[in-house]
Parts: sequence; structure tokens; C-alpha cells
Amino acid sequence: MKQNLFVYNTLSRTKEEFKALNPPHVGMYVCGPTVYSDAHLGNCRTYISFDLIFRYLTLLGYKVRYVRNITDAGHLEGDADEGEDKISKKAKIAQLEPMEIVQKYTVGFRDVMRILNTLPPSIEPTATGHIIEQIELVKEILAKGYAYEVEGSVYFDVEKYNKTQDYGILNGRHLEDLLNNTRNLGGQDEKHGKLDFALWIKAKPEHLMKWPSPWGLGFPGWHLECSAMSNKYLGEQFDIHGGGIDLMPTHHTNEIAQNVASCGKNPATYWMHTNMLTVNGTKMSKSLGNSFLPEELFTGNNSILNKAYSPMTVRFFMLQTHYRSTLDFSNDAMEASEKGFRRLMTAFELLDGLKASATSEVDIALLQNRCYEAMNDDFNSPVLIAEMFEASRIINSVNDGKTRIDEANLSLLKETMHTFIIDVLGLKDEKAANDELPKVMDFIINLRSEAKTNRDYATSDKIRIGLQEIGFQLKDSKEGTTWNKA
Ligand code: AMP
Ligand code: ZN
Repeated sequence: MKQNLFVYNTLSRTKEEFKALNPPHVGMYVCGPTVYSDAHLGNCRTYISFDLIFRYLTLLGYKVRYVRNITDAGHLEGDADEGEDKISKKAKIAQLEPMEIVQKYTVGFRDVMRILNTLPPSIEPTATGHIIEQIELVKEILAKGYAYEVEGSVYFDVEKYNKTQDYGILNGRHLEDLLNNTRNLGGQDEKHGKLDFALWIKAKPEHLMKWPSPWGLGFPGWHLECSAMSNKYLGEQFDIHGGGIDLMPTHHTNEIAQNVASCGKNPATYWMHTNMLTVNGTKMSKSLGNSFLPEELFTGNNSILNKAYSPMTVRFFMLQTHYRSTLDFSNDAMEASEKGFRRLMTAFELLDGLKASATSEVDIALLQNRCYEAMNDDFNSPVLIAEMFEASRIINSVNDGKTRIDEANLSLLKETMHTFIIDVLGLKDEKAANDELPKVMDFIINLRSEAKTNRDYATSDKIRIGLQEIGFQLKDSKEGTTWNKA
């Protein structure tokens, strides 16, 4: 049976004590992207934050089952069950199959996540792959009396639920308060109450993504997929449920209501919310028109930017702020992060060449302890980074012959830096990656030449087009093939 063992606020536990917990499993569910457009930098902040948590729990010895869904149906334009499905709308405009839109942006999202060095989740389930589970969940909620059907749609009855449960539990708000701050139902509205939300929505004839159900052709409400999929892969109760803070008042509040209504349990022990990436103090959001893409940052191709920044600079910039604080984007902040990241990696590179002395003037065990303490204190990455800078200061001082370090402390320093920079913060040396690139490109170009020689033009075209899609241009001439990066 699954147990809830996640105890990050029990700061007194050592790494060994954490590992001794039996079984050391953690279930973590994070609301994933809606794949109707490219993930913007704000979305990336949320996923980098949960990547840090995933990495640290793994380091502590937990077996983490990290589930991050892909929303490929059911997310309407408006939060109050109005407007078109975002993916269907995009597909109509582009004259594509909705699943072509889904494929394009899912692939793009995974690419960006990889470039930002976030680890893939353990399971990445899709809403369209779990329609049966969602229909079953609607049936259960109906059977428990917390939902009602009107003309082929099914709605959750919030006021009835709130008679025995606390609907506003997540953000600590009373129902009256929520009702007073919600606009009245329109005359055409099928809902019984202002806060009621759709579990299943009847599809209009022009709607592209629809499935048969006991209530007719329709599609699931957006909140339903996360209840159904977290339940399927992590059980009725698991350890962490995460997402951006903007999901708290509606999406996560409704998710809890669905789970409690169907099985009587709040699905997660810890609800963790990342704060927003802002631009001039305003949340970065596609609908507000102030969002930009990670690719634009990597290429510098946006008028808001003074220059391009590398993926690891972007990651470092994000991790320098605690996940629960807002983070404002600016060129100055990016430039400061670039310098900081370089300073850290320059010291990291010096580590291997350091010479140990017979005695030590530094005690690295204390420093290592402070790193664990920082992360045990609600994953405090800025404090951890400050400790990494302290480690860099020691490295530079030893390198300059100003401080002595013995063999044991030097080995602990290497272990600590490697563990926290590479494994936990997920930073990597970009210089090394760039050094390898020409060799990798030569290898691929040779493969393509071989394919051409064998008249296998399908493969040679596939290689050229594939490279083009990820920003590498091949140029053929009499002298051979050269490449450049867009
Ligand atoms: P969406 O694709 O809009 O559902 O968003 C995917 C994830 O990104 C959700 O967890 C959102 O809460 C999160 N998110 C959206 N905008 C921002 C932002 N400006 N800063 C941080 N996270 C965000
Ligand atoms: Zn969700």
C-alpha cells in the first residue's frame, strides 16, 4: 500500500534517515502544459522548479514517481467553461488535425525541457489517452450525488458539495466570499450555481475533438483529467501535487472537489505552487501578450532583449530565486545571472587541478551540511547557490595558494560541488557541450553522405530536414557539406 512519506519540513532528518524510511517512495503530480502553442518562459519556470524538487528528492534516496500530464483536450479559452477548446481552435485556424497541433507542441515542449536540462518525468499521460477513466470519474461523482446532467453536459454541484466539505480549502476562502466575487449566471447558462463547473461538456456539431459517453458526444472538462490521471498513476492519495500559483483558485480547487466527491480524499498531502515569472511586474502570459519563448532568449531574437543568453544562464537565473517568490525578468537580471553562472563554472573547472596540503584551513563538512539544510528548508535554491559561491571562493583561494585544504576536505568539496551543481541544480558546463558539437555534426554529415552514396535519398532528406527543424542548416557544395546554427 502506498504511504505518504514526504516530510520536507521535518528538517532534523539526515540524508541517511530519509533513506531509511521504508518504502522511500514519493508520488508527485504536476499539471503539465496545454499543447496548443509553444511553452513560454513563465511555463518553463514552473517546470524547472519541479525539476529541482524531483532531483533533490531523488538525491535523498526516494523513488520518485513524477507524473506530469500533457493537456491535449478540454482546456477552453475561458476559465468558466466558456469559449472554444484551445487546441480545436488552433487546428481550425491552421487547417490541421487537432492531433497535428498536439504533436507539434508536445515535441517542441520536450525539446525545450531537454535544452533547459530538466529530467523527463516518470510518466507523461495525456488527457485524450484517458477519456475512459474520466468518464468513469464523472459517473462516480454523479452516483455520489455531487453532479447533475443538463442536455448532455454534466456539472459539479459546488454548493451541495460545500454543505459537507470545504470547497475553498486550498486558498482558505469561504463559499460566500467566492460567490460574491463571481459574476452571475447568464440567462442561457445550464448551471444551477455560479461556482458550478463542467465535468463533461456536450460537443457542438462544429467541435473537432469529441467522444461518445453515457451523456452523448462530448469532451471532458479541463479539471477532470488531472483528478483521473493522478488517481490512476499515484493512487487516491499521494505526496505532492504541484503547478503554478495561478492554478490554485480554480483548477486545483476543482480537482480537490472532484477527488473528495468521488473517493472522499484530498488527493495530495502537499500542494506546492510556484510563483509567477513576471515582466515589469506583470505575470508573463500568452493572453496578455507579454510572453516570449525560451528560443528567443537563446537566439536573442526579441526586441525586449539586449542579447542572447545560453540555456544554462536561463536555468541559473530561475533558480537564483526561491520558487515561492515572484521573479521579474529583466536584461540586467539576466546579465547578472550570466556573470554569476560563469564565475561558478570557472571555479568548478579549477577543482580537478587543486593540490591538497597536509593540513586544512577549511571544514567542507560544515559547508555540505548547509547545502542540505538549504534544500531541506522548502527547497531553498537561492541559499544553496549562495553556498556554491562560498565553495567557489574557497576553490579560488586554494588555487591562489592563500588557503590550505587537505585530501579529505578536497575530496568532499569535489563531491559537494558535483552533487549540488550537476545533480541538484541541474546545471551543466556548456563549454564542454559546444566543444563536442563539431564532432557530432561531422558524424551526422558523414551518415548523410553515406545515405546519398547508397541513393537512399529518403534518409538523407530526413537528416537534412530534421537538423533544419532543430536550427541547423546544411550547405552542400563541391568541397563538401558545411553547417551553421541559426
Ligand atoms: P498552461 O500551459 O497555461 O496550462 O501552463 C502550464 C504551467 O505553467 C502551469 O503550471 C501554470 O501555472 C504555469 N505558468 C503559467 N504562466 C506562468 C508564469 N508567468 N510564471 C510561472 N509559471 C507559469
Ligand atoms: Zn492539472
